[in-house]
Amino acid sequence: MYFEEKHKLIRKLARDFATEVFTKEVLDEIEETHEFPDEICKQLADVGFYGIKIPREWGGAGSDHRGYVSVIEELARVSPVGSVVANGPNSLVGTPLYQFGTDEQKEKYLRPLVRGEKLVVFGLTEPGAGSDAGGTTTIAVQDGDYYILNGRKCFITGAPKADYAIIFAKTDMEKGVKGITSFIMDMKSEGVSLGKPEDKMGIIGWPTSDIIMVDVKVPKENILGEKNEGFINAMKTLDVGRIGVAAQSIGIGQAALDEAVKYAKERKQFGKTLGSFQGISFMLADMATKLEAAKLLTYQAAYMKDTGQDVTKAASMAKYFASEACNEICAKALQIHGGYGYIKEFLIERLYRDARVQTIYEGTSQIQQIVISGQLLK
Ligand SMILES: Cc1cc2nc3c(=O)[nH]c(=O)nc-3n(C[C@H](O)[C@H](O)[C@H](O)COP(=O)(O)OP(=O)(O)OC[C@H]3O[C@@H](n4cnc5c(N)ncnc54)[C@H](O)[C@@H]3O)c2cc1C
Repeated sequence: MYFEEKHKLIRKLARDFATEVFTKEVLDEIEETHEFPDEICKQLADVGFYGIKIPREWGGAGSDHRGYVSVIEELARVSPVGSVVANGPNSLVGTPLYQFGTDEQKEKYLRPLVRGEKLVVFGLTEPGAGSDAGGTTTIAVQDGDYYILNGRKCFITGAPKADYAIIFAKTDMEKGVKGITSFIMDMKSEGVSLGKPEDKMGIIGWPTSDIIMVDVKVPKENILGEKNEGFINAMKTLDVGRIGVAAQSIGIGQAALDEAVKYAKERKQFGKTLGSFQGISFMLADMATKLEAAKLLTYQAAYMKDTGQDVTKAASMAKYFASEACNEICAKALQIHGGYGYIKEFLIERLYRDARVQTIYEGTSQIQQIVISGQLLK
């Protein structure tokens, strides 16, 4: 209902890409080695999946948010970690660079990002400022033509591989969230170091770590957007990011449902297939219905963004509902697999682990409830 022919074509491209590139052997190897192949990063960039909604003028594929959602959903259906790799350049990084960057910044950071030549990551969360992202304690003090950054960011997706990071830091201690500025920081700058990559439950293969900054000099022309508008820009960025997490969630949910249906048709107990027991078939009915509702919320949010509407509430609703539904679907799909669902050889075991972070990153479910109710009560 929300899609045009051009979106259907990009969805087909993503589906074909995902099934051809992410074979079982490749997915197993990523899990085993904890390494996402550079070659696949290059393929994702070459096919245009790093800059799906970035205009061609800046090296992107020139599609829109519905195209973006279609690609992320299809990648997540086969490889959730692959969808995370493709998602960053589009959402938390591509969005602010395109929306708030100067032409010079777009040329220097956005174009190489979507071409897959440079990796930029998004550094908002801190050990003491997670859900309360406005409580950031990283500080940036002006010193002539530079800002001196000190602080620590945590859980930063892709940090160990990054060339640059968008860092949110306090530039005015008196002004609370209105005193936060975003900077593009070169990860090779003196004073930048990394924490050890986190040993994660899921999304294995794409590293997450702390970024530590001690007296890091960042030129003042590397401010992204206006000074002291970093927090509001981060929230605008997350509106898009949340649509992307919703898309990942429906992709993973679809994969889990497919696995459960297949297993319920094959596995026999008491002389009958599992699907012939109403206790199982009604579970499948619930899973399929919630997945469909999650898809509609996600597609609607993307459509609203494409048509210039305010998406803060719609994006939060899509992220909240789709990520919770994804976890419920994966849990039920695993239950339908019985003991086999608990064994790594079965795909559902990995999907269950990959699903878990969806209700946490880019704002937990509780934060989405705060955003949604805040919009209702304003
Ligand atoms: C794999 C992974 C990748 C990530 N990637 C990035 C990244 O690239 N960049 C980045 O900046 N961050 C990233 N994050 C961080 C992520 O966004 C945060 O973990 C998330 O926002 C939650 O913050 P927290 O972990 O500090 O939890 P907390 O804020 O401590 O929350 C703990 C619990 O309390 C609840 N809670 C908190 N406040 C309230 C409230 N007011 N009302 C009700 N409940 C509340 C939360 O919902 C949660 O259940 C990543 C995290 C993970 C796990």
